[in-house]
Amino acid sequence: MATDSSKDIKTFGFIGLGLMGKPMSINLASKLEADQHLFVYDLVESAVSEVCESAPDRVSPCQSAQDVANKADFIITMLPEGKHVKIVYIDGPQNICSAQLDGKTLVDCSTIDAATTLSVKDHLGQHFPQTSFYDAPVSGGTLGAIKATIAFFLGCHEDDPNLPTLKAILGTMGKEIIPCGGPSLGIVSKLCNNYLSGTITIACSEAFDMGIRAGVDPQVLYKVFSAGTGQNTISDKWCPVPGIVPEAPSSKGYKGGFKIQLMLKDYGLAASMAESLGSKPVLGKAGLEAWKDASGDSRFYDLDSRVMYQYVKARGDAE
Ligand code: NAD
Repeated sequence: MATDSSKDIKTFGFIGLGLMGKPMSINLASKLEADQHLFVYDLVESAVSEVCESAPDRVSPCQSAQDVANKADFIITMLPEGKHVKIVYIDGPQNICSAQLDGKTLVDCSTIDAATTLSVKDHLGQHFPQTSFYDAPVSGGTLGAIKATIAFFLGCHEDDPNLPTLKAILGTMGKEIIPCGGPSLGIVSKLCNNYLSGTITIACSEAFDMGIRAGVDPQVLYKVFSAGTGQNTISDKWCPVPGIVPEAPSSKGYKGGFKIQLMLKDYGLAASMAESLGSKPVLGKAGLEAWKDASGDSRFYDLDSRVMYQYVKARGDAE
């Protein structure tokens, strides 16, 4: 690891070894020094075994979140939703807060709502004043998690004294660590980003659908969008139309990538956040309805969110 302060930390913990957490923890383990160790836990035992087998001398299984938190000084969590974060930190059996935490650092990488992250931070602050807690949701998908190229949106100030250590440790799992200005602002930034990419996904799918219906070759539309003012990453790298970008999920039956139900979750969180702040997005309500409708369709559930193109196309075909 890059900085001396991160080398001083000898014990790490990782809770939540799913699609993102598993490759992230494997990357972290692969970059530990000989005298550093990783303790891991998930409800799914096979996920724990898989991570332990990736580096048997450097990773050990734990029996609970509390067990991880007792053994590790730097603990990362990567869980589906706010309710799981609450369970793992505060409400569940053998939770993190039932361990001895003073002086430890905890980083939650889950994409949840700002209120939950702040409530966990407050709870920790009341019971363990010497403990640091950060929100650090990520972007870059499962492929980015495997390749260690994800971005972390960190809920802290530029001048946070722990930033060099956080950058060194999170840098083993990703390539960009962006301090977003303070507690919960990592979450806020992530939700703004996913609102943007979710809205672009709908607009991009609609633009392809209308162009194809008019008789333009989708390969030509792809070139036009790349060269024109409509240029965007969803079209360039994650093209929703199959067969244009070979490595995009759309070209592999929409397998892999970012599941449509996760997009619905994040879009809904962003919409609620906007409402609570008095922001009145023009596209938000219609976008949320589209994500709800598409996620509720069994043809699209569990597939990459860029399957939105098939949803848009099916609406037109049904007319
Ligand atoms: P996932 O469902 O694959 O993994 C979550 C893991 O948490 C599972 O292994 C589950 O068993 C574990 N878990 C749940 N409750 C637990 C508990 N009480 N104790 C211990 N373990 C528990 O989800 P994921 O795709 O890895 O996503 C995790 C988070 O990252 C989500 O908030 C998601 O929105 C966000 N995210 C996902 C992606 C993506 O492409 N999948 C990209 C960026 C961000």
